[in-house]
Amino acid sequence: MNTISVIKIGGGEGIDPLPLLDEIAERTSAGERFVLVHGGSHETNVVAERLGHPPRFLTSPGGHSSRRTDRTTLEIFEMVYCGKVNKHLVEQFQRRGVNAVGLSGLDGGIWRGRRKDAIRAVEEGRTVIIRDDLSGRVERVDSELLSMLLDSGRLPVLTPPALADEGIAINVDADRAAAATAIALRAEELLLLSNVPGVMRDPTDWSSLIGHVGEVGIEAIRKAATGRMKNKVLAAEEAHAGGVGRVVIGSANRERPIASARTGQGTVFEGVPA
Ligand code: ADP
Repeated sequence: MNTISVIKIGGGEGIDPLPLLDEIAERTSAGERFVLVHGGSHETNVVAERLGHPPRFLTSPGGHSSRRTDRTTLEIFEMVYCGKVNKHLVEQFQRRGVNAVGLSGLDGGIWRGRRKDAIRAVEEGRTVIIRDDLSGRVERVDSELLSMLLDSGRLPVLTPPALADEGIAINVDADRAAAATAIALRAEELLLLSNVPGVMRDPTDWSSLIGHVGEVGIEAIRKAATGRMKNKVLAAEEAHAGGVGRVVIGSANRERPIASARTGQGTVFEGVPA
């Protein structure tokens, strides 16, 4: 089987990656190919607090939330994402006999993009402009390097930061970076797995899960998603519009999270016009 799945596992609180790693290991040995993208937001918050540089978050006028990334935050972010979380995942894969290669988007310039030179954020009811933030968006993906790794039987484990055009590291949203990666690799599917079962009409009520975009329409999904779920929905829309056949926002906390997402447990973007 030559198809590629891109899977993003969240770094939110309460995610246990081990069932996903078990399932990827089992499927890899059966010939499936994966790229795993991961976050590390919760752990970064914990370490940042411990190091005396507590996390701060910016909310855009449109309600999107992002981490305020000054230079110290970027260094802590790299310690956690590229260090602790990435190497833990690689170690777990190696223990399962999967030849994983941990990389950040900086390495080999896999993820390239642009730093935002001005961020509009709402603070205490007023819109302010922040010009020195080290964050941005992935605009290009070096799929050749990833394909080389996949062709040689390796499993790329990828994480932010990305490389901005002026040669500096930038914090990027891992969901949207995963979407760009899936598009560049012409992946068959993108599974965005986190600590919730999918997009819910009411995030406090798990029985209000929206099973398929077609059920309610994309506008209703955009409206239901608040905070960081907004980026996931945006990522799903981008991947779907970019030709990825199946995109699922689903839960990582299942016995077989890939099988669950593939059988439609989650919010599915498939077969509807983008
Ligand atoms: P991760 O870090 O695992 O990628 P996030 O924590 O960034 O995931 O995003 C998932 C979070 O989005 C949920 O924990 C939930 O608090 C929040 N959320 C906001 N709106 C919704 C919604 N409509 N449905 C589900 N989750 C939502």
